[in-house]
Amino acid sequence: MGDTDVLIIGGGPTGLMLALELSLQNVSYRIIDSAPQRSDKSRGMVVHSRTMELLARHGIMDELQGLGYTLKASRIFVNKKFVFEMDIKDLDYGDTQFGAPLMISQAETEHVLDKALEKYGKKVERPVKAERVEQDDEGVTAWLCNPDGTEEKIRCKYIVGCDGAHSVVRKAAGQKFDGGTYPQDFILADVHLKVSIPSLYIASLILQYWASPAGFHSFRFLISG
Ligand SMILES: Cc1cc2nc3c(=O)[nH]c(=O)nc-3n(C[C@H](O)[C@H](O)[C@H](O)COP(=O)(O)OP(=O)(O)OC[C@H]3O[C@@H](n4cnc5c(N)ncnc54)[C@H](O)[C@@H]3O)c2cc1C
Repeated sequence: MGDTDVLIIGGGPTGLMLALELSLQNVSYRIIDSAPQRSDKSRGMVVHSRTMELLARHGIMDELQGLGYTLKASRIFVNKKFVFEMDIKDLDYGDTQFGAPLMISQAETEHVLDKALEKYGKKVERPVKAERVEQDDEGVTAWLCNPDGTEEKIRCKYIVGCDGAHSVVRKAAGQKFDGGTYPQDFILADVHLKVSIPSLYIASLILQYWASPAGFHSFRFLISG
């Protein structure tokens, strides 16, 4: 049948993870993404134990651990006042070789997943946009817009929608994306800092700070508006 067994639409972490697993299983696939390049912003920052166990199947955990850092404790401040500290040692992580969350920016994680994919001889095709998807009894057809603007029609056994919040695949399948909007404003920023962290606790309404793509000495802030 068709041009490939599986078409993965979307080369974010979900699509990349699926691509790595299909590579391991020797399933033929293509993975496309409409964005010309990856975002360099931090976005998702925590990788949990089970995810690390799955990523370890591709031999990339040493590199990821070298780029991020293992969470030891978390301190919560509300309205400039310290309210709570959680020590990871006090939590029961059960039977795993990765007994604490790894703090790493999504930009770094995606970069490492991209490199892992290259080791299997595969890469995300960019910018290739899925314009339309149609399923019938034998398989699925997708209409893609290639980088030179030409349209390509491909047949596959399966299409997997890893195309995020505005998924064309979800819409083609007639599924809804239920949810709501919180009545709250935030400022979210990846920043480099010269001031010390304790003085920042006092100076502002910081809700969250963490390592950003530039590494240990830069931080991600989430400040309530
Ligand atoms: C500013 C910001 C901050 C965030 N902070 C956090 C956080 O602190 N913690 C956390 O857990 N998560 C956070 N997230 C959410 C996190 O980034 C997402 O949950 C994660 O990226 C989802 O991964 P995904 O692969 O499913 O989808 P995405 O990363 O959204 O990837 C989908 C991909 O599909 C591509 N695509 C879309 N439509 C098409 C199409 N028609 N054809 C081809 N390609 C297409 C897009 O270009 C995109 O690359 C944040 C997100 C943002 C934007």
